[in-house]
Amino acid sequence: MIPISTVRLGPAVEAKVLEVIRSGNIAQGPVVAEFENRFAELVGARHAVAVNNGTTALVAAIQSLGLEPGDEVITSPFTFIATLNAILEAGATVRFGDIRVEDFALDPESVRAQITDRTKAIIPVHLYGQSADMKAISAIAAEHSLAIIEDGAQAHGARFEGKGVGTFGIGCFSFYATKNLTTGEGGIITTDDDEIAATLRIMRNQGMRARYEYVMAGHNYRLTDLQAAVVIPQLDDYAALLETRRANAAALSEKLSDIEGLVLPAQLDGREHVWHQYTVLLPQGVDREAFVASLAELGIGSGIYYPKPVYDYDTYRDRADVIRSETPVADDVAARCVSLPVHQHLADGDIDTIAAAVRQVLAR
Ligand SMILES: *Cc1c(COP(=O)(O)O)cnc(C)c1O
Repeated sequence: MIPISTVRLGPAVEAKVLEVIRSGNIAQGPVVAEFENRFAELVGARHAVAVNNGTTALVAAIQSLGLEPGDEVITSPFTFIATLNAILEAGATVRFGDIRVEDFALDPESVRAQITDRTKAIIPVHLYGQSADMKAISAIAAEHSLAIIEDGAQAHGARFEGKGVGTFGIGCFSFYATKNLTTGEGGIITTDDDEIAATLRIMRNQGMRARYEYVMAGHNYRLTDLQAAVVIPQLDDYAALLETRRANAAALSEKLSDIEGLVLPAQLDGREHVWHQYTVLLPQGVDREAFVASLAELGIGSGIYYPKPVYDYDTYRDRADVIRSETPVADDVAARCVSLPVHQHLADGDIDTIAAAVRQVLAR
């Protein structure tokens, strides 16, 4: 079986983790600080604040804006459910723009249509590893004095016109086991704003500014040195990992380009894609479940990220803080998307095997 993702950590990770275990300093300490410095450098942000997962990164980032009940944020309907859950956890009301097929991310014009006098922030999602259109989104945010919080959980090191995602506003990243960079569970928040960084550091540590000096009702959002040790060696190898993912994506696109009706993902001009996922849209009318099952029979793993717009589940249907809108592009994309293996652990010949299987199943 060629899996959609594989976690394989090497001897450098084992050595670094062992170092932490032997140090006796296993909670948040110097290795978390090292991770923050290294990640801030990767993204090009002044500050990076590590937290315990990507969802809490989003919750903390939204909480740092100091919203009032009824304040609204606008996000993408085509994302992992965590984006929506974090917004609700932070106490905001959510509206949804639609997406564009080209980058699977927020369509800036659709965002404009959702702005009300309660809107406080836009939360673009850099889905699959490619930046949203941050030029247009930043312009709309500036025009309406809105904050930007970026969900970069899948886009570590992605760039838009040379600028790292996570530097257009407050950036939120996940280090879950299967993300491009991992700590098992982990998150980080990036910002150029000294005050927001300071607030986030206090918030993640029980609201404590100095010992027993509590300036807010905070939380325990801390990451541990044990977890940070897992990612430090991965940062050393990240450029090579991205090279491999880019080469795999290019090879898949070359081998699949002549299949009628199959929509292939592309890196748009001015953007640096980090290929967390390689996601195609099946030709109209193809039965996706049957396609996925046939691929599995041929030994190819695949994934559906994501099968429906996030608001389209019963548990959110009657909530006053989840305001639905028409999202025809997201509806269509969610119904046709399939992600194929693109990761750095593919073996020689795997790309050929994957492409041949896709071709064979679609020809039936
Ligand atoms: C993974 C992910 C998250 C949540 O991160 P966790 O670390 O799993 O909490 C949020 N948004 C998107 C788009 C993700 O892919």
